[in-house]
Amino acid sequence: MSFDGAVRRLESVARPDRYRQIEQLPPDAPRTVRGGGYSYAPASFGARTTVQRTRDFNRVLSLDPENGILECEAGLTLGQLHSVATPHGWYLPAQPGYPLITIGGCIAAEAHGKNHFRDGTFRRRVLALDLFHPAHGILRLTRDSHADLFELTCGGLGLTGQILSATLALDRLEGTRVEIRRVSLGRLEEAVPLLEQWAPKSRFLYTWHNLSVSGASFGRGFLYTGDFRPESGLARDGGERFTPITAEDRGRWRVCLLNRATTVLFNAAYELAQRASSRVRVLSLFEFLFPVARKVAYYELFGRKGLHEYQMLVPVESFEDLAATLRRGLMRFGVPIALASCKLFKGERSLLRFDGTGICLALDFPRSSGSERLAGFLDGVVREARGLPNIVKDSRLPRETVEACYPGYESFRRSLRAFDPLRLYRSEISERLGL
Ligand SMILES: Cc1cc2nc3c(=O)[nH]c(=O)nc-3n(C[C@H](O)[C@H](O)[C@H](O)COP(=O)(O)OP(=O)(O)OC[C@H]3O[C@@H](n4cnc5c(N)ncnc54)[C@H](O)[C@@H]3O)c2cc1C
Repeated sequence: MSFDGAVRRLESVARPDRYRQIEQLPPDAPRTVRGGGYSYAPASFGARTTVQRTRDFNRVLSLDPENGILECEAGLTLGQLHSVATPHGWYLPAQPGYPLITIGGCIAAEAHGKNHFRDGTFRRRVLALDLFHPAHGILRLTRDSHADLFELTCGGLGLTGQILSATLALDRLEGTRVEIRRVSLGRLEEAVPLLEQWAPKSRFLYTWHNLSVSGASFGRGFLYTGDFRPESGLARDGGERFTPITAEDRGRWRVCLLNRATTVLFNAAYELAQRASSRVRVLSLFEFLFPVARKVAYYELFGRKGLHEYQMLVPVESFEDLAATLRRGLMRFGVPIALASCKLFKGERSLLRFDGTGICLALDFPRSSGSERLAGFLDGVVREARGLPNIVKDSRLPRETVEACYPGYESFRRSLRAFDPLRLYRSEISERLGL
C-alpha cells in the first residue's frame, strides 16, 4: 500500500539478504526496488513485477571520523545513520522527516530537509554510488565516472537499477540540540518575505499555516527558525525512541476524523497551543530531524482512505497570485486542509528532480471525491505558476502535468531508455508517467 493509502496491490516480494540473491532473478525479469516504503505515491511497487526489498542491506561499511565520510549499504535507515554518526560529531544535513526512510529511498527521490536554501537536496551529499543492473553488472558512479548515470540515478525514482551502497559526505555537528524560535505571520503571503528575511540567519527554516481561517488572515501562522545550540555537546542525544508506522498501520482506522469542522478545531487548537507556549524551544537533534517519529497519530487521523499530500515548488514571484487562487479554490471545493507548510528552496531544476529555486508549499488533505477535484485544480495552479509538483508525494499526478511542468521529462525518459532498453526497473509511477 502506498503511504497515502491510495494504491494497494498484491505483489510478490523478495527479501534478499545476500548480494547473490539480488542477482538470482532471471536477467530479463522486470523488478522494483523497495526501501522503507515511505513514499506517499507507489514508487516502490505497483507494476506487477517482483519487488526486491533492501532493508536487510543496512550495514555501515566505513566511517572516516576525521572527515565525516560514511559509506553504507542503501537499506540503512536515516535513524540508524543518525545513531552511528552523531557520537562522532557528524550529521546528514538533507534529510526527510522520518527515521525509517532509507538512504536508497532518499537518493532515488532526491529528498530534501528543512534547509534546502542552505544545503540543497540529498544528491549534494552523495560522493559515490554502487549501482546494480542485470545488463550492466555493478557500476561505481561518481561525478567523474559514469557521470550521466550518476545524475540519472539521483532523483531517478529507482528506475536505473538497485543502489547497493553509497558514500556520503556528512557535515560537522555543532550540537545535539536545536533551538527553535517561533515568529508569527499574519497571512499566507507573508511566508515569502519572512522566509527570505530569516534565511541568512537560520540553519533550518519552515512555516506552518492555518488555511481554515477565511478573509484577510487566510493562512496566518508561524515561521520557525532553528539552529544548533553549541553548548549542548556531542554525546548521543538520547531521544531516539519512537513508534514505527507502516503504510498498512497508517490506514488501520476505518474512518477519517478530519472533516471540515474537526479540521477547523484541529488547526485552531494547534495555533492556540503554539501561542500559549514559549517562543523559543529546545529539541534534541533526533526530535527535530524526525518530527513525525512521535506524531504518527496525525497520519492515522486520515483513516483507511488516506490523504493527499500535494507538494509544489513555485517561483517566489508567483506565490502571491498562487495564495489568492488557492483561497478561491478551497472555498469552491470545500476540502479541509489539515496541514500547510512552506520551505525556501535555492537550487537548480533538472531531469525529474524536485529541486529549483522558490517556495515549496505542502498541503495535506483527506482523500474524498472533492479532494480529487482539488488535486486536479492544483495541477492547473502549479502549471500556471510555472512550478513543479513533487512526483513521489502524489499517487494520481497525471503524466500530462509532469510533462508540462518538468522540462527535463523527455531527457530523463530518453536517457533511461538508452541505458535500459528493456526497462527492467518499473513501478506504478513509471507506468503512469510513461517512463
Ligand atoms: C512521514 C514522512 C515524512 C517525509 N518527509 C519528507 C521530507 O521532509 N522531504 C522529502 O524530500 N521527502 C519526505 N518524505 C518522502 C520520502 O523521503 C521519500 O518518499 C523517500 O523516497 C522514501 O524512502 P524509502 O526508503 O521509504 O523508499 P521507498 O518509498 O520504498 O522507495 C522510494 C523510491 O526509492 C527507490 N529506491 C529505494 N531504495 C532503492 C535502492 N536501494 N536503489 C534504487 N532505488 C531505490 C524506490 O524504487 C522508489 O522509487 C516523507 C515521507 C514520509 C512518509
